[in-house]
Amino acid sequence: MTKTSTRGKNAFRGKKLTAYLAHIISPKTASTLTNIPRGAIVVDEEGKIVEVGEWFKLKRNYDGMVQVIDYGQKIITPGFVDLHLHLPQITQTARTGKTLLGWLDSYVFPAEARFADKRHARKIANWFFDELARNGTTLANVFTTVHKDATDIAFEIAAAKGHRVIMGKVLMDKNSPKALTEDTETSLKDAEELCKRWHGYDNNRLIYAFIPRFAITASKELLTGCGKLWKKYKGTYLHTHLAETKDECTFVKKQYPSARSYVDVYASHNLTGKNSIFAHSIYLDDKDLRALKESQSSLAHCASANFFLKSGFFPFSRIKKAGIKFGLGSDVAGGPQMSLFSVMKDTAYMQMDLWISPRELFYLGTLGGAKAANLDKVVGSLEEGKEADFVVIDPTRRTGVPNDMLGHNVDEILSTLIYLGDDRMIVSTFVRGRKIFDADKTRSTDKTLRSTKSAGKLKLA
Ligand SMILES: [Zn+2]
Repeated sequence: MTKTSTRGKNAFRGKKLTAYLAHIISPKTASTLTNIPRGAIVVDEEGKIVEVGEWFKLKRNYDGMVQVIDYGQKIITPGFVDLHLHLPQITQTARTGKTLLGWLDSYVFPAEARFADKRHARKIANWFFDELARNGTTLANVFTTVHKDATDIAFEIAAAKGHRVIMGKVLMDKNSPKALTEDTETSLKDAEELCKRWHGYDNNRLIYAFIPRFAITASKELLTGCGKLWKKYKGTYLHTHLAETKDECTFVKKQYPSARSYVDVYASHNLTGKNSIFAHSIYLDDKDLRALKESQSSLAHCASANFFLKSGFFPFSRIKKAGIKFGLGSDVAGGPQMSLFSVMKDTAYMQMDLWISPRELFYLGTLGGAKAANLDKVVGSLEEGKEADFVVIDPTRRTGVPNDMLGHNVDEILSTLIYLGDDRMIVSTFVRGRKIFDADKTRSTDKTLRSTKSAGKLKLA
């Protein structure tokens, strides 16, 4: 007997319900999952999941009370969680030939400086959010730029388009190009104002993060100020880079000679703790791992970016053994692709002496990421009471995957999605029950792409 039938049919009378039918796959843990070949998720008008189960059992409970959308031979999974990426860098994907610090100077910093132009900022933000939805990402942890207005615009667009993001302006007050170097006080003041304006918007669909870019571009005063603001505003996040390359670590050691390690630079400025997310985290010793675990800090593993910029290899087994929460990040544009399928695949490829199961990769890109962001009670899997953030996937759409794929076992299905999948397989993306992408209506995205081409020609301010 299902839970609905025990509540009685009348529990939902008068409520607008929608049942989405397809093959349902949703993680429970890194090794267990829900797999319902002819399943349904029932969503209420507030975008909450009312029930998940086999449709032939569920339908009796909703007789005449539910709108049915049948996706047939498609798959519904939770939406993907991208724990680290950069909005302005979508204009700089696939710029190769330099490692991190040179790549930032040559490509990224000039591109970010252009966000002083509000028109440009709006065009790129529109493009960025359309791409997130097109790739099936329903929770993204986003760096914008140092610019207050551009960040305000990014929030405005995310709010209007229905996205779920953790986002904030970047703070930089030293060792940066002139166009991006902020006055420390103004930088902190701008971040606080944006936080007051957007944090918690639409029942926490938009969440604010304080984002010192990394230790290199931050003074002690800036790091201290970030720590204070993060503690002051409940539910906000601290998001930054950590130990991505050896050159970066050497630079940080010179800049902060009294700190025991890179982690210690952040810890000594009160920047570690629950709701802190550190991208990369490659070059860490055992004391660092203990400090991160004890403080309940989380990591974003960005395999594609680590390959692309030749940064190094994430110590997957050590991090797991240390019990530190982590998820995956595309790190666009350090990583060239926004698809979490690509990132899952690269995560597997990076570990030369370890097989990571498709279940675990799928978990890391969904519920594991939500856990690392401490939002797993709200999103990350398809369960009664959670918000309906999900994607509809057609594995055979514009790919060479055989039509009979759904006849295979769930591990083979997931393996096919991860190793052969990308944005082309995504049919629709939903956040809190609202459709934010429909592959059959791609015109607006194409239009944005066209207009962005001209935006790319804008000169540096
Ligand atoms: Zn990054």
